Amino acid sequence: MNKSTNTIKILPDFIANQIAAGEVVQRPESVVKELVENSLDAGADSIAVIVKGAGKQLIHIYDNGQGMTKDDLTLSCKRHATSKIFSQDDLENIRTFGFRGEALASISSIANLEIRTRTENEQTGWRLVTEPMKEDIIEPCNTDKGTQLFVRNLFYNVPARRKFLKTDLTEFRYISDTMLKFALLNHRIRFTFYDDDVLIFDVHPDSIEKRISDILGEKTAGSLMAVFIEGEGIEISGFVGQPHLAKQSRTGQYLYLNGRSIQSKSLSYAVFSAYEHLLEKNANPFFIININVDPHTVDVNVHPQKHEVKFDDERYVYKLINSAVTETLRQNNLVPEIRIKEMESLSPIETMKSGTDSAEFIMVNKVTGEVINHSNPTISSSNSQDFRKPGFQHGEYKHYDRGNYQQNIYKPSESKSYENLFTDSNKTAFRFDSVTPVVDKAELSEHIEKPESMFWQLHNKYIFTQTVNGLMMIDQHAAHERVLYERAIKAMNKELAYTQNLLFPITTKITTSEISIIKELIDELLNLGYILTIKEPDSIELQGVPLDVKNGLELTSLQEIIENYIENQKLKHTNKRDSLAASYSCKAAIKSGDSLSKEEMKMLLKDLYKCNNPFSCPHGRPVIIQVRLDEFDKRFGRIG
Ligand code: ADP
Ligand code: MG
Repeated sequence: MNKSTNTIKILPDFIANQIAAGEVVQRPESVVKELVENSLDAGADSIAVIVKGAGKQLIHIYDNGQGMTKDDLTLSCKRHATSKIFSQDDLENIRTFGFRGEALASISSIANLEIRTRTENEQTGWRLVTEPMKEDIIEPCNTDKGTQLFVRNLFYNVPARRKFLKTDLTEFRYISDTMLKFALLNHRIRFTFYDDDVLIFDVHPDSIEKRISDILGEKTAGSLMAVFIEGEGIEISGFVGQPHLAKQSRTGQYLYLNGRSIQSKSLSYAVFSAYEHLLEKNANPFFIININVDPHTVDVNVHPQKHEVKFDDERYVYKLINSAVTETLRQNNLVPEIRIKEMESLSPIETMKSGTDSAEFIMVNKVTGEVINHSNPTISSSNSQDFRKPGFQHGEYKHYDRGNYQQNIYKPSESKSYENLFTDSNKTAFRFDSVTPVVDKAELSEHIEKPESMFWQLHNKYIFTQTVNGLMMIDQHAAHERVLYERAIKAMNKELAYTQNLLFPITTKITTSEISIIKELIDELLNLGYILTIKEPDSIELQGVPLDVKNGLELTSLQEIIENYIENQKLKHTNKRDSLAASYSCKAAIKSGDSLSKEEMKMLLKDLYKCNNPFSCPHGRPVIIQVRLDEFDKRFGRIG
């Protein structure tokens, strides 16, 4: 190599900006976020956003803020050009959203950008047109006080980025989520939001309560409890929802830091844990919480795009939020009794290692201290008849006929295939050798029809019934889930007419992101039995629901399915139909805790045995467990 040739060069501005743009602008939503933040920084109290083609075609923002002078306008799209900080001290005391001076420079390197702006003191405004690789044009123009930006053909010169974008619906959903978050907290500012020609919302300055109601609906706004606490250099304020507002997904959780929407698993957990015992499993409480910190005293590190935030003293903030929410719940008489006793009696038996370094496991009754059984997990996982491992995998039942299922089912090689399904089986609290998951469909149906058959409900949760050779236990929720799941799949395959028309159609307001999901799922929802019309911009009319949806739950069932669907999608359940059927069945099924009459139990079991796979619920948990009579005999020492 010829050492006299220098190879290091400073990148041309245009390339440097494009590289930086990769950081700042991932998708159209990032542009909307940056531009609305600029408008807020400019002191606007009215901001309009119009997007076309999910923001790829056009993003137009219109504010009545302070505007820019000609000189400022000329500089605004240069890198590191900012009016917001001048010194080191400013950097430590940031009150504005922006300060890096990167957004406009980045955007102008990957789109055609036009800015029109006028300050209060000037008669005429100025217009700047930038296009990558071209000279900027700057000229006088007539425009209102404030600033308008037009971002056209985003990513047109970065095809790789463009390809990486999701469908228009999804991209639009990102934008509308961001708009919703801005509008929700900034209640003194008018926000107008259009998708093409369709008005999504136009909310006027009012109280925060009114704003929440305008955006999220009266039902949500009417179920909120105020939260407030002050700490050192920090103030926490906002609302938490009554338990019934809790959702399966985290879509009802709005966390802000000095007005900026952020995400923090740990702080969300601070709210969640205050609700302990008040919520169903996997439910996430609703909240809108703003953390106001003095930038001088509290050190936070927030990545401008990722929304993840790290406090210097995170535990302090955690405790503050947790105690503020606990106090609110207490004042609203929502603090639950502590139910440790009850929980213990529900699962008294625990598997634990018998010595620190031994592979031996023992089962101990935590209440009495009694050692119940010794077992080596490596052996027991293939030999013992752990009830958490259903005898059949999805759809496999038909391979076993009555005569030979017992020989087949417990072959070690057979059990191996269940390993992945129930990896935590060693942790199971109850583990009786005598419990077998083997059930016979024919036997089940025969038994149900007999008039003398007994059905008994345990804690409104499990159904017990005697069978020819023992006792059968059924998880009522899981059983109904299975029944509804198979019906839903059939309905979506158009093998079953499964809708009931509503006598009185229900119209309701829903959020824009819910609308876009409904659009995405509309065909499947229709086949499933939800007959609905979207009434742009923010309502739907429901005219029919699936047959098994109970009276009064028409709307909530749909809303819960949608939430559940979002959550499932996050877990990468990509098959729409299955995911929807699973959500529907989980939401429409009878719950554990519902009391059932004998007839209802019978009906449920009848429906269950008609299923292709009655033995596990759509999530893979067992539905039926059978304990054979001879296993009882063994337990009671009647046989050896
Ligand atoms: P930053 O917000 O980090 O300063 P930007 O690239 O977003 O950087 O904006 C550069 C500058 O352009 C801002 O500092 C501000 O002076 C000016 N500016 C941008 N948008 C507006 C607006 N809507 N109204 C007034 N000035 C604006
Ligand atoms: Mg900015």
